[in-house]
Order: sequence, then C-alpha cells, then structure tokens
Amino acid sequence: METKNYKFWFCTGSQDLYGDECLRKVAEHSAKIVEGLNASGRLPYEVVLKPTLISQASIRQTMNDANNDPMCAGVITWMHTFSPAKMWILGLKEYKKPLCHLHTQFNKEIPYETIDMDFMNENQSAHGDREYGHIVSRMGIERKIIVGHWTSESVMNKLADWMITAIGIIESSHIRVCRFGDNMNNVAVTEGDKVEAQIKFGWEIDHYCVNDLVEYVNAVADGDVEALVEEYYSKYKIIDEGRDLDEFRRHVAVQARQEIGIEKFLVDNNYQAVVTHFGMLGGLQQLPGLAIQRLMEKGYGFGAEGDWKVAAMVRLMKLMTAGKKDKKGTSMMEDYTYNLVPGKEGILQAHMLEVCPSIADGDIGIKVCPLSMGNREDPARLVFTSKEGSGIATSLIDLGDRFRLLINAVNCKKVEKPMPKLPVGTAFWTPEPSFETGLESWILAGGAHHTAFTYDLTVEQMADWAAAMGIESVIIDKDTNIRDLKNELRWNSIAYR
Ligand code: MN
Repeated sequence: METKNYKFWFCTGSQDLYGDECLRKVAEHSAKIVEGLNASGRLPYEVVLKPTLISQASIRQTMNDANNDPMCAGVITWMHTFSPAKMWILGLKEYKKPLCHLHTQFNKEIPYETIDMDFMNENQSAHGDREYGHIVSRMGIERKIIVGHWTSESVMNKLADWMITAIGIIESSHIRVCRFGDNMNNVAVTEGDKVEAQIKFGWEIDHYCVNDLVEYVNAVADGDVEALVEEYYSKYKIIDEGRDLDEFRRHVAVQARQEIGIEKFLVDNNYQAVVTHFGMLGGLQQLPGLAIQRLMEKGYGFGAEGDWKVAAMVRLMKLMTAGKKDKKGTSMMEDYTYNLVPGKEGILQAHMLEVCPSIADGDIGIKVCPLSMGNREDPARLVFTSKEGSGIATSLIDLGDRFRLLINAVNCKKVEKPMPKLPVGTAFWTPEPSFETGLESWILAGGAHHTAFTYDLTVEQMADWAAAMGIESVIIDKDTNIRDLKNELRWNSIAYR
C-alpha cells in the first residue's frame, strides 16, 4: 500500500514591532524547533519551515500556498511573539486543510538570573498564542491544540498522532467505494445517505452488477491463478480436515482467481474499497472469502452485505496507519457471540469469512468449509486468532438527519481455549469502561454490529477526524458513564440539528 510523502508546514507568527534583531531570533528559534522535531525520529512526516509571518498579506499567501500544494497535509502554527490576530482572519478563512496550534515556547525554563523586558518581549507565546487562539475560536475553525515544550515526549507524540489524523482528513476525499449489490434487504444500520457521505467525507460510492466482476474473474489466466495458489500454500498452513486434497486445492484456486480478478477490477476502475453481498453473487462460484481477506491486508477497504460505510472506514483507517511502524492491524469486524462468565466477559468478533489477516497473531491457516449463506460452493478462508492489546472499534451510523461516529476503546484478549471447529478469523475483546457499561452505551448510541477496528489508532485521533469532517462523535471509553452519556446524546441531538 503506497502512501504519499506528505509534509507539514511550520508557520511562526509575529509582527514587525519588535525590530529586525528580534525577528532574526524568532526565525532562528523556529528553525531550531523544526530541526529538532525532524531529528527526533518520532514524527511520521517531515515538518517544513516557512518564513515568519508578520503581515496579513504574507499570512494569506502562505495559507493559500498550503491549500494549493498537494504534498502539504497541514499547517502547524505557533506565535513566538504577539501576532495581532486580525492579520490572520483572511488567511484562516481561506485555509482548507488540517490546522494544528502548537502552543509551545522556545526556552524551557525562565532564565531567572538574566531575565529582562527584552527577553519577555521576545518570548511571549503565552501571550501571542492566546490572541491567535481567540480568533480561531471566534471563527469556529476546527484545529488541534498541543501544549508543552517542543522537546517533550508528550508534545512529540501528540504531534505525531495529529499528523496521522491530518492524513485521514486529507485522504478521505480520495476514497472511492465499489459496491457489488445493494444493502442487505431489510437491514437498517448498514444503510445511509450516500450523497451526504460525499458532502461530508468526500467518498464516492458507486455500484456495479456483480457479473461485471465475474467477467474479470473468469478472464484471469490459469497460470496466474496457479502461481497465487502456490504462494498461499507456501505462506499458510493447509488445514484440510480430511477433505480430498485435490478438491481442497480447487476450492482455494477459486479464491485466488477472485483475488486477482477483483483487484484488477478495482485498479482498472480506480476503487480503493469494495463491498460484496452474499445474496448477490451472480456467476461467482464462491462468496469471496480468502480473496477479500488478502485484499484487505493489501490496504483495500471492505464491507459485507452492502455495508459501504464500513468499507470506507476500513480504507480510511488503513490509510491513516499505513506509515506506522510496528502496526498491529486493521479490519472489518462483526460482534458475534458473548462470553458472559463473570470476570471473563467479552465479545467474540468475526465475520462469516472476511476478517483481515493483518490483525492475526501467530499461524494463519486455510480451511474450506460449507457456508449456508450465499448458496454457492464451499469457500476457502483464512483462519487465525488475533493479537492482544488495546484497540478501537468504530461504527459510523446515519441517524436520518446526521452521521454519528461511535468510537469504543476495547481490550483484545486471547480466548480461554482453542475453538477448533470455528472456521473463521476471530478476535475477542472487552469494551471499556466495562463489559456492561460499554455494551449499554454502544446500544444506547445506536452502534452497528459491523465495525471498522484497529489496534493502531486512538479514540482521540478518530474523534478529531470526526470533528474535522463536521460530524458528531460519541466516545465510549474509561470515562464513560450512562448518566452523562444520556445527557450527551440528548444535547447532541440539538447541537447537530
Ligand atoms: Mn455481517
């Protein structure tokens, strides 16, 4: 999965009241901060220093240059000195990309022995950043405020997290979802307003007849299918469970052919996310299982039963985490079955086939098993269990008058015992703040059974993304309690009307 080499602009605000000597130092300090941020190795993207902004014209020009530079994913602003904020109004009004306000200061400690009024005038971000913050708040512009010394671990980490959110904001409008079939009949929560989704998120959501895809699948060369089957057999454990080995391999080959055919269709038609429906398989021999699992692992978004919202969210979260080191994985998920034993409560997560192997822990096997859904041949699928650790499950729902993004912090665990008869990839998690409150909150807020899940993003990153998109988000985490959540939902219904 390729991602662009985005950059973030560092724009320091000041004014010409302080004289050239002071402005020289402002520029010098800004350069040192940018150098330090880049040298830290903590930021996923490069920070680029821009000349100090001291006039309305230069601010407006710089903000528009940032808009027009396709490699610029956001602007980091900092007022080293006082920068009268009326100068910022036009630039901010015309600026369209993610905005971060780094509320820092060049020096860490007050220089007690030598401090005088010259020093105070030169180092007054405590003062200048309030003037700037005021106008951003007055104009109602969404931005991230990060507070602290620029060398601190906490500031670096927050900046790194925000950069990833900014990539999600920038890249959202490049997501194109290809649906083979419509939503599953009578299902409510996977439905949604596609026009509003394009207005809010920039997503293009199209549909094709599944037999358009069948032509692509049937056209795949036998040699290519055989080569991919070989790759599967070398990479995954074959769990034949006594089936005839040739017959098993033929079933696997159907999925290999589908993987190549679906990907070619998506590439030829410029789609980054795909939706299937077991009830609309046309001439496909099997419900795409292993094929979809492999495509998700490559970075494509996926949603089942027509769920284009989950497909786009999975793609978005894969884009956001693409550059992350040591990432643990992102997948479509479905809440399936509970363990209600006291002290061991959790939700077994899976889908009928399509769970992304990026979240797998340990060996990944291939099984071929019957599937009542879809009424086709027994599909081949990858089976595994998932990593332990914290993650987030998100659900984007359409409430009729607005979108709401639910974000639930969850703790992934191992199930107590193996589940040898379960032929799907699984995860098992307990939601925060607790099993009971987490579930009550999720249902109260209208969350779906399908989710876009990742180990690699935080609640805060997705809430910031939702805010930038102009939609409501509801966080369910360690701070959630039912009484406050009920009030929040009640108040949000007015705030987002
Ligand atoms: Mn489902």
